[in-house]
Amino acid sequence: MNNNDCIFCKIIKKEIPCPIVYEDDKVLAFLDINPVNKGHTLVIPKIHYENIYETPDEILGCMIITAKKIAIKLKKFIGAEGININMNNDAVSGQVIFHAHIHIIPRITNDGFTHWKGSPYKKGEAEEILQKIKS
Ligand code: 5GP
Ligand code: ZN
Repeated sequence: MNNNDCIFCKIIKKEIPCPIVYEDDKVLAFLDINPVNKGHTLVIPKIHYENIYETPDEILGCMIITAKKIAIKLKKFIGAEGININMNNDAVSGQVIFHAHIHIIPRITNDGFTHWKGSPYKKGEAEEILQKIKS
C-alpha cells in the first residue's frame, strides 16, 4: 500500500504537513513545495506506485481527470494563461520522487520555463522508429 521511506506516502498519511488542493479515496493533489509558478500542483495515487508503468489504468484515469479539474481552477482563479501537464518517469527523465505524480504547471507569459529543444529525423529514421514502436 504505502512505502515508509516515501515522502509522498508520508504526505498521504498526513505525517508531513502540506497544502492539500483535492482529496478523494483514490488520489491526492497538493501544492508543489518548489513551484515553477504559484499554484503548481501534484496529483498522486493514494497507493504507492513508482511510475506510470506500475499505476493501474483506472487510477491513472482518476489522476488525469483530477489534473484537468485543477487545471481549469488554476486558469479561472490563479490567473494562469496556460497549463503544462507533465509526468516524469525514471531518473533519466527527471523523476526525483519515485511515487507516481502528475505535475500541473500554471503558465504565464515570459515566466522563463522553457520547453525541450527538438531536432528533426534524418531520412528513414522516423519509419524505422515507427516499425519498432508498432512491433
Ligand atoms: P519529479 O522531478 O520527481 O517529477 O518532481 C518531484 C516534485 O516534488 C518536485 O517538483 C518537488 O518540488 C516536489 N516535492 C519534493 N518534496 C516535496 C515535499 O516534501 N512536499 C511537496 N509539497 N512537494 C515536494
Ligand atoms: Zn509513496
